[in-house]
Amino acid sequence: MQDKKFATRAIHAGQEADPVTGATIVPIYATSTFTQEAPGEHKGYEYSRTGNPTRSALEECLASLEGGAYGLGFASGSAATDAVVNLLEPGDHLVSCSEVYGGTFRIFTGIYQRRGLQVTYVDGSNPEAFNRALTNKTRMIWLESPTNPLLNIFDLRSIAELAQKNGSTMVVDNTFATPYLQNPLALGAEIVVHSTTKYLNGHSDLIGGAVVTSNQSLYEKMSYYQNAAGAVPSPFDAWLVLRGIKTLPVRMEAHQRGAADIASFLLAHPAVASVYYPGLKEHPGHQLAGRQMRGWGGMVSFKLEDPVRVDYFFRKLKIFAVAESLGGVESLACHPYTMTHATIPEDKREALGITPELVRLSVGLEDPEDLADDLREALGA
Ligand SMILES: *Cc1c(COP(=O)(O)O)cnc(C)c1O
Repeated sequence: MQDKKFATRAIHAGQEADPVTGATIVPIYATSTFTQEAPGEHKGYEYSRTGNPTRSALEECLASLEGGAYGLGFASGSAATDAVVNLLEPGDHLVSCSEVYGGTFRIFTGIYQRRGLQVTYVDGSNPEAFNRALTNKTRMIWLESPTNPLLNIFDLRSIAELAQKNGSTMVVDNTFATPYLQNPLALGAEIVVHSTTKYLNGHSDLIGGAVVTSNQSLYEKMSYYQNAAGAVPSPFDAWLVLRGIKTLPVRMEAHQRGAADIASFLLAHPAVASVYYPGLKEHPGHQLAGRQMRGWGGMVSFKLEDPVRVDYFFRKLKIFAVAESLGGVESLACHPYTMTHATIPEDKREALGITPELVRLSVGLEDPEDLADDLREALGA
């Protein structure tokens, strides 16, 4: 299957017809346990925390899409993140980009720093900053690109080279780009993390996560943790993500067509001060994104000229739902300053550019003209 193109793998990888019934679609194996012929004599499954055929299909499909050897499904993107950070020991050092997902920051600080993990945050746009932050205790580099919510692009290949030289594991949270637009393993990362809650499932109806790697020893450690800690997705959730992934290529194409339209619309609007979209030539990461991604994605952020208009803007939206999360078929608008990034200390938010006039849009699959009309109304005269 790995010699086949992305769209073919999205529909077929890990999803052969059911060996017992011929069911074309992988069934939802809603069972906690599996009957054995005799003690220890089974067909590869014993207990659904350890392994479940629906989850296995999802894990194999995701591994294929990321070009990795192994996939692991989790109950959330945060559980997937936890399984990766748990590879580290007290006293180890982790270097992260400063614009890391809020929940990931919470795992670093609230769970692992308490137990002796050292964490340094650096400006991801400068590979030299990573180089300076690396020590002989550094075991992991954690990156997101494009970042949330400003959609900055980091040079994954250059940073992966630094990680390799230093003997540390580079992890990329690929949730925003999806494997359709970016494959971090091919750029030198060792582990890819996903919140399948977002584009992979694509329909805003579940919480899920995944990890992909080609490193057998890392896989075995994370697989042990997956089974031991037990934050696994239900067979139904695994099935929903598998179903969502089948349309990932067509959805991503439509998401980014819509996002490009919205970005140009916003750029031309007098009430808008700046637009953040990697597809715009003005975007500082435009060229780099062109080299390491196969498209610009479906997220657009912008700043209003007048912060006083923010409240009016959000109240006036009719099609865009004011909500956290992203990557679903429906358009969402978020105010990072008071919603997704509210827990970050005020001075840090300002330093990151997460100011009160910043708006983040997840451009859905509604008609782009209706979306632009909705924004026009909300931006006011
Ligand atoms: C949502 C998200 C997560 C966390 O995933 P959950 O499924 O909400 O636990 C991690 N990273 C990024 C980039 C996300 O957008």
